[in-house]
Amino acid sequence: MSSLWWPLFWPPVLAAMLALLVWPLFGPVVALELFAVFLLVLLLHHAVNLRALANWLLAPPGAEVPDGSGAWREVFNVIYQSGRVQSSSQHHLSAALERFQRAAEAIPDGIFMLNEDGQIEWCNPVAETQFDVSNQRDHLQRIAYLVRQAQFTDYLSAQNYAEPLVMKSLRNPDLTLSIQLVPFGDRQKLLLSRDITQLERVETMRRDFIANVSHELRTPLTVVGGFLESFEDAEQINMEQSRRHFQLMLDQTRRMQGLVDDLLTLSRLESNQEKMSEEVVDVCALLQILHKEALSLSDGRHRLNLELDADCKLLGNVRDLHSAFGNLVSNAVRYTPEGGEIVLRWALKGAEARFCVQDSGIGIEPQYISRLTERFYRVDRGRSRETGGTGLGLSIVKHILTRHQGRLEISSEPGKGSLFCACFPARRVIEAG
Ligand code: ADP
Repeated sequence: MSSLWWPLFWPPVLAAMLALLVWPLFGPVVALELFAVFLLVLLLHHAVNLRALANWLLAPPGAEVPDGSGAWREVFNVIYQSGRVQSSSQHHLSAALERFQRAAEAIPDGIFMLNEDGQIEWCNPVAETQFDVSNQRDHLQRIAYLVRQAQFTDYLSAQNYAEPLVMKSLRNPDLTLSIQLVPFGDRQKLLLSRDITQLERVETMRRDFIANVSHELRTPLTVVGGFLESFEDAEQINMEQSRRHFQLMLDQTRRMQGLVDDLLTLSRLESNQEKMSEEVVDVCALLQILHKEALSLSDGRHRLNLELDADCKLLGNVRDLHSAFGNLVSNAVRYTPEGGEIVLRWALKGAEARFCVQDSGIGIEPQYISRLTERFYRVDRGRSRETGGTGLGLSIVKHILTRHQGRLEISSEPGKGSLFCACFPARRVIEAG
């Protein structure tokens, strides 16, 4: 403001100096009159500029700052400059606020900003969907009124927010949310909600899996342990009886071995790190081997036919395909009573190649079919165990087919038999020639 002094100062000083010069020539009256006129003009000039300032102050925001003259030019210039600084910082502030809002909207978790009374000041679109509220409609509504779940209101009022609250959404019971309240600023709160449905599902699967594996291992271990204890307590060993016991222990040990082998195969298939090595697989040759294996497994109890209706090959992993096809064949043998018929068929259907196993076995009720590829799922637990099943075979088949972009088709009729087909897309098929 120091630059303002000079334009304010010089007009009256100049007028006083002029009056002093005129004084000796025309006398004091003329000199004082001249000085008075000059002061009047100066006053008028200030009044006009003051009026321009008042008009500008009363005008709507954004009106142009007047130009002014003399000392007022400098005043208006200062006003104009500070207005520009203010509007630029306002612009920056609103740009930053908009950026923050967009970032908060992009966060995959729900966010509520609550005031000290628990009223919603703002929420992002994820929070709107998870809690079925609206940022606009429910502005300043108490969140406890909108989400009327006892667990939730208890959590809000407990004042202990160290641990998140895990709860099922009342509006959508398939949705599990983890809710965390974070106090901030002047008694305000952030309420964060995360969809942990998938995490919960994986955790349940993990728990079920451990329970299933423990259950599967416990029976054979109990049998083996029981026999070993009876040997320990026996004073004399009866060789004939011992041989039978050894045979039973061997069966149980093989069962555990089978389970561990299947678990390792599943774990290898499920860990995506290992990239599947691929080669051109001569399916006809592979099926000749499988046919022989099936004959030995059946031990003459079934009629077993191999039908090679196609001579195409497959691009895939021979070890995995052997394992998948072997599981389908062994199931057919195990679930087909003596005297039944089993057909292994390799054929083309449209552009797809299919390996099908048809049996005249016990069949499956339609309501169970969609669950057959779940780990440890069995229709008849007793029969599966008796025949050395682990409940993991079809799960392994499904994984292997998925890795080959294929699929498993199942059709069955109870008491009549089943048809299991492994179908492969055209891009995996290599025509003979
Ligand atoms: P398991 O080791 O018990 O055979 P799988 O995963 O191979 O396990 O099969 C799951 C269940 O599907 C079996 O327990 C059985 O109930 C049913 N299943 C599979 N294949 C056949 C079939 N060919 N005929 C009848 N039921 C079958």
